[in-house]
Amino acid sequence: MTNYSDICIIGAGIGGLTCATRLINAGLGRHLRIRVFDVNGFVGGRIQSRKIDEEVAELGAARYSPQLHPHFQELMQDSGLPHAVYPFTDVVSQEREQQELKETLLSLQPMVKEHPQESFLDFLSHYLGADEAIRILEATGYDALQLPIVTAAMAYDIIKKHPETQNCTENAGNEWRYATDGYGELLEQLKRQAQAAGVEFRLEHRLLSLEKSGADHLLAFSHQGEIQMQRAHHVILAIPPSAMMGLNMDFPATWSPFQYDSLPLFKGFLTFEKKWFECMGLGDKMLMANNPLRKIYFKSDKYLLFYTDSKSATYWRDSVEQGEEIYLERVRSHLEQALPLNGQPLPPIQSHFYKHWPHGVEFYLEPEAKHPTALVHPSGIISCSDAYTSHCGWMEGSLISAHHACELLLERFKPLPDEPGCDDTLAAPAAESA
Ligand SMILES: Cc1cc2nc3c(=O)[nH]c(=O)nc-3n(C[C@H](O)[C@H](O)[C@H](O)COP(=O)(O)OP(=O)(O)OC[C@H]3O[C@@H](n4cnc5c(N)ncnc54)[C@H](O)[C@@H]3O)c2cc1C
Repeated sequence: MTNYSDICIIGAGIGGLTCATRLINAGLGRHLRIRVFDVNGFVGGRIQSRKIDEEVAELGAARYSPQLHPHFQELMQDSGLPHAVYPFTDVVSQEREQQELKETLLSLQPMVKEHPQESFLDFLSHYLGADEAIRILEATGYDALQLPIVTAAMAYDIIKKHPETQNCTENAGNEWRYATDGYGELLEQLKRQAQAAGVEFRLEHRLLSLEKSGADHLLAFSHQGEIQMQRAHHVILAIPPSAMMGLNMDFPATWSPFQYDSLPLFKGFLTFEKKWFECMGLGDKMLMANNPLRKIYFKSDKYLLFYTDSKSATYWRDSVEQGEEIYLERVRSHLEQALPLNGQPLPPIQSHFYKHWPHGVEFYLEPEAKHPTALVHPSGIISCSDAYTSHCGWMEGSLISAHHACELLLERFKPLPDEPGCDDTLAAPAAESA
């Protein structure tokens, strides 16, 4: 085994896997050694599928909209994997709040342009008063909309691009879909496609640092407690901004004039000893809760899921840290408050699991400015992430950014006018022994 790669891709999420398959489809795999590294022992990053009772449970990304996410839709179509209508655009809420939410949002929309800098909370408070503003914000199910960095225009954009809230906007007709067998199969398919063309995967490798070394880059990884060095001629970092900040690459200062931030997400899954919610008419419905459960989804008669962001995600992380009993006690009591159980206790829980994502959604600040969809370091290293696009927080953004990263790399392999060959990297440097 040598420690030299012509192209080294760090990150085997959907962004890194897309880079690998795109580069081999462009013919680079025939001549060049391409390697993909990931700190995890599996591919997928923020996409992780499980099965509960033959029904898919997505710990991370779950749904896409053909209208909003055309690249991802195409990827799913090409994969031939089964997909179906994602049912959770039909919201059941406490106290008829969804109708009020819709009427309020539609009536205030024309005023948004008069408040370009104001937070959504201040905007709503201006017209409705502080208490009503909070009530309306809570009815959206997304805590992030209460953050001071979210302007009214941003909030309207977020609301119209989410399945649970789009009904309050002009996007009400958008369709949503999900992979019925889980996205895990899509990721494995991309991995197999890359491997078949010679791409090598090195999992459980955490990139620690990079430095320029002549015409190459020297990368230091930690792998099973040891430091391993790798040399690469081209590097794509398909990792999000929070991971970029952990490297010695002075991110973002030497990469981009933008600043980046992230929000935590938390999903909790529960199964029950008896099937009970389908007969209450809740099967494949979503309930908006005025408590830290926020959005509760009832997947057919198989499982219940709650999905939260920002302060509610932090509440659940803290609950978990206090121990499983405390976590489950809080889940039970908030469910009993939110569900129409007529004073009955919650039926016994059979099993549960959860996933906290400390950096679930990553994004750039100053959203009104146009961010390049991939970044290039002065040393030539390319970086891609959904966080660089207007589709931050969506798989679509990862695809758009990965496509741009590949275009930038492929430019380097184009023959110059009057030159017969490609970039000198095609004559690969002598390989070094590991
Ligand atoms: C809870 C949740 C729900 C979501 N819901 C949806 C949804 O419904 N629809 C949708 O389209 N999108 C959704 N998303 C967003 C979607 O998951 C992401 O946009 C997408 O998966 C990001 O892919 P990526 O490859 O760009 O980054 P990531 O998936 O973050 O992949 C980056 C990879 O880099 C690896 N890595 C990081 N640092 C290093 C290092 N130093 N060395 C080696 N490896 C490293 C990580 O292990 C990871 O595998 C959701 C995300 C979360 C967390």
